[in-house]
Amino acid sequence: MKEKTEEKIGIYPGSFDPITWGHLDIIERSSKIFDRLIVGVLTNRSKKPLFSATERVKMIQNVTSGLPNVQVCSFAGLLVDFAKEQNAKVIVRGLRAVTDFEYELQMAQTNHTMCPGLDTIFLTTDVRYAYLSSSVVREVAEFGGKIDAFVPPEIAPLVREKCRERS
Ligand code: ADP
Repeated sequence: MKEKTEEKIGIYPGSFDPITWGHLDIIERSSKIFDRLIVGVLTNRSKKPLFSATERVKMIQNVTSGLPNVQVCSFAGLLVDFAKEQNAKVIVRGLRAVTDFEYELQMAQTNHTMCPGLDTIFLTTDVRYAYLSSSVVREVAEFGGKIDAFVPPEIAPLVREKCRERS
């Protein structure tokens, strides 16, 4: 009899404030590696986000609706605990430049030490998005700049509106 193989679950955690083309590219590529990919939206108490966790979850669900094995949820606390809860054995992170590497290596080693069954894999950014970050998108939008090249078309008006509300 054929043994039931365990579902391969990956977690892609981040702030996604807001989701950019760079994030979406990592989601699309890693959704092909796993049976199920969970995008984990961090409810970070130390940063004051532009969008609430609920809003960020909805925005990501909207732009990933064509990817049936992608699930989006928010989490608070330690990533290792969230991964255990979700039965995920692999964390996915994107690497843009050497400047990302030092922090990412430290986090991956910390998480692996806390939870030896949990590994981190890195996908290198598509060169088209290597310069792109949520913080740059927020900054450009706050000063009324055009952000259409940085985020999906469903996201740009929401960022503009949020920045208007705040000013
Ligand atoms: P965090 O606060 O956890 O870094 P981010 O939302 O900024 O959250 O990023 C989440 C993940 O996506 C990180 O692994 C980050 O390196 C990656 N990432 C961010 N922007 C890009 C991009 N333009 N291309 C590829 N990966 C990216």
